[in-house]
Amino acid sequence: MKFSPNQVDRVLIFDTTLRDGEQSPGATLNVAEKLTIAKQLAKLGVDIIEAGFPFASPGDFQAVQQIAEQVGTEDGPVICGLARATQKDITTAAEALKPAAYGRIHTFIATSDIHLKYKLKKSRTDVLGITSEMVALAKSFTDDVEFSPEDAGRSDPEFLYEVLERAIAAGATTINIPDTVGYITPTEFGTLIRGIKENVPNIDQAIISVHGHNDLGLAVANFLEAVKNGARQLECTINGIGERAGNAALEELVMALHVRRQYYNPFLGRPAESETPLTNIDKSQIYKTSRLVSNLTGMLIQPNKAIVGSNAFAHESGIHQDGVLKNKLTYEIMDAESIGLRDNQIVLGKHSGRNAFRTRLKELGFELSEQDLNKAFVRFKELADKKKEISDWDLEAIVKDETQVQMVNGFRLELVQVSCGNRACPTATVTLLTPDGQELTDAATGTGPVDAVYKAINRVVNVPNKLTEFSVQSVTAGIDAMGEVTIRLQHEDRLYSGHSANTDIIVASAQAYINALNRLDTALQMQASLPPEKAQLGLEEPARV
Ligand SMILES: [Zn+2]
Repeated sequence: MKFSPNQVDRVLIFDTTLRDGEQSPGATLNVAEKLTIAKQLAKLGVDIIEAGFPFASPGDFQAVQQIAEQVGTEDGPVICGLARATQKDITTAAEALKPAAYGRIHTFIATSDIHLKYKLKKSRTDVLGITSEMVALAKSFTDDVEFSPEDAGRSDPEFLYEVLERAIAAGATTINIPDTVGYITPTEFGTLIRGIKENVPNIDQAIISVHGHNDLGLAVANFLEAVKNGARQLECTINGIGERAGNAALEELVMALHVRRQYYNPFLGRPAESETPLTNIDKSQIYKTSRLVSNLTGMLIQPNKAIVGSNAFAHESGIHQDGVLKNKLTYEIMDAESIGLRDNQIVLGKHSGRNAFRTRLKELGFELSEQDLNKAFVRFKELADKKKEISDWDLEAIVKDETQVQMVNGFRLELVQVSCGNRACPTATVTLLTPDGQELTDAATGTGPVDAVYKAINRVVNVPNKLTEFSVQSVTAGIDAMGEVTIRLQHEDRLYSGHSANTDIIVASAQAYINALNRLDTALQMQASLPPEKAQLGLEEPARV
């Protein structure tokens, strides 16, 4: 076991972007994208990655298995899989986690009377029995078992203590307290955690963890209060994505614990002035991780979002700016550079060579294969022809765009051409390359150029879908800036997102749409090609922590 309960002297960061975060509508990720995010989470230094819910779907199973294999190395994070307290869930999770050096099974069962009565239709005695039995089963596969009493926030505390005592006795080494519905307030959460610490007799044999949703905007505040009362593991997501209003945001928790370390140190039994970090997170990777997750999930970040929003470090009002120029500390409580957000420096131009390009990418933390580097370099040269000065953000957009296109083995955009204007009927022609190299061309008219392009693409791809969201943002300032297009489309009851950047927003729009359609297509193919035993995976009804 990587984190033994009596040796944890800091706050462990448990990232659930790939499990709880991915449950947010439209944030669906394919296996390759999950793997990319997991690798970045390992670079960020998270202690535990909850990689998915293996029983929920074959895609989840495969993602957990590949992340366990490629990211769950000896010096990497613990890889965790979620499982309901049933035999088939737990054995499926164990199978998916097998390749990890450190694998954790996270099992859960509801403990609130309302869930017992209406959802589980079980008595309290039943729940106690299931807890002991299923934790013991999980323990037979791995020494690292996490147990969550679902809807703990609304459970009778006395019953909760009893369930937790049983789980620990059966071998759970982490006890997670979820506020599943986002209802609790900070003081109440602090009291709940303290109550557990004081009333569960064997609590010193487990790490106390917290999980919570942001329905009232209180998730981060609740977690920080929990830390003060003994919680040592925080379950959070990048950019706070997740069901409904989302989860507690990793970047906010980490920066709060860093900026206010003198305040929090004593709660971890340290002197206030201690400079030992409270978490293991490499803060300089925060901004990059945030952008990656936003690009791949299609969940945009609001400009005023704490820490990672585009306005978070912009001091635009005149008085502030003057103050900031005289001394940064007058208005800034933290440094933009500390989260890896550099000034938007102009770094390269038309005459920059391949070496300068490679070096800068390396400094930005992108290590590309020779083949990918060549492709990205071609994109860079094209961009440099159109745009005089290339910034770090432009480079980042190019590389991510290229990686996203390459990850999917689907349709490729060969040509897009539009004619439009105030007296013209918007008309688009597109040529797409199919995965087996066939060239398909079609044309369509629409209410505007993007509409015409999308109609033309639909004629080629021919998968029914409905566009539900379309947004354009500029990567940098200036009239020659690249535009980033993020879209979502709906097929049956699922949403798929696509993202792309280009100085020409029509090209970016076409590429973003194709990226989304490719994801939809991959999902359909996966469904169709399942071996019978895997096709049985799947939940009859939603289950969540
Ligand atoms: Zn949750």
